[in-house]
Amino acid sequence: MYETTYHRPSSVEEAAALFAKGSEAKYLAGGHTLIPVMKQRLAAPSDVIDLGKIKDLIGVDVSSDAVTIKAATTHSDVAQSGPAQKAIPALAYLASLIGDPAVRHRGTIGGSIANNDPAADYPAAVLALGATVKTNKRTISADDFFKGLFATALADGEIITAVTFPIPAKAGYAKFLHPASRFALTGVFVAKTKAGDVRVAATGASQNGVMRVPAIEAALKANWSAAALDGVNISADGLMSDIHGSSDYRANLIKVMAQRAVTAAG
Ligand SMILES: Cc1cc2nc3c(=O)[nH]c(=O)nc-3n(C[C@H](O)[C@H](O)[C@H](O)COP(=O)(O)OP(=O)(O)OC[C@H]3O[C@@H](n4cnc5c(N)ncnc54)[C@H](O)[C@@H]3O)c2cc1C
Repeated sequence: MYETTYHRPSSVEEAAALFAKGSEAKYLAGGHTLIPVMKQRLAAPSDVIDLGKIKDLIGVDVSSDAVTIKAATTHSDVAQSGPAQKAIPALAYLASLIGDPAVRHRGTIGGSIANNDPAADYPAAVLALGATVKTNKRTISADDFFKGLFATALADGEIITAVTFPIPAKAGYAKFLHPASRFALTGVFVAKTKAGDVRVAATGASQNGVMRVPAIEAALKANWSAAALDGVNISADGLMSDIHGSSDYRANLIKVMAQRAVTAAG
């Protein structure tokens, strides 16, 4: 057995101060990753600091050009947010596909991207939409945030406070999910910005976590249609191969999911 002290701060500043005092502190949001990890004794934090009751970390704000999701907002709240559904339907749809109802009612966007599971859904939207991750110390662009498997640009003790997504001209998400875990065997988010740029990100596919897909971006920039991807070949180099699917299978899934996502985007 080991002891851990549970804290429930009411502000981001209080949470950061508690973290600094702990010998091996951990932030807790929805707990859908951290608690199983603690149960398996893979983490034994001295202090667990619950961000889930900090009012400044909960909610969805929509302006004329961006959707901002505060870090402790649950997947369910994003999926059901009318303003988010209207501004970036693909983002609300992505949130609705995460796990099952229990996962969606506890899991949060901050926990998801801080954890950066290679098969998680949100990283694909963050990267494809060119979002900005706000922390208690700075803002980090999506291109600089994800650093590989379960790795991010966050410094020890840094707290994600919100993620701001620019509203695109078009966006779509398609996920080939694992039927047991509901995680993405491969998921692809496609986005066309209002300036006409195209960004595409795939999750569940690469050994290094979420990735841009330049071949699909180039084809869609020339012709935004599912048919434009018919002749595109995705290399299997660097893609995951496991009992659920080979790297060749995932390479094909990237293309097929991208075609479905473009069709959904319209
Ligand atoms: C059965 C099951 C199925 C799932 N299916 C899917 C799926 O289909 N797709 C998918 O994307 N995800 C899936 N998940 C993951 C889930 O959606 C959560 O997003 C994920 O567990 C992390 O979010 P959390 O809020 O639970 O974070 P926690 O478990 O509380 O924390 C995770 C990590 O993030 C850190 N952290 C949390 N919040 C912050 C913050 N604001 N700033 C800095 N660090 C922070 C914590 O310290 C911890 O290290 C599934 C989980 C389960 C258990």
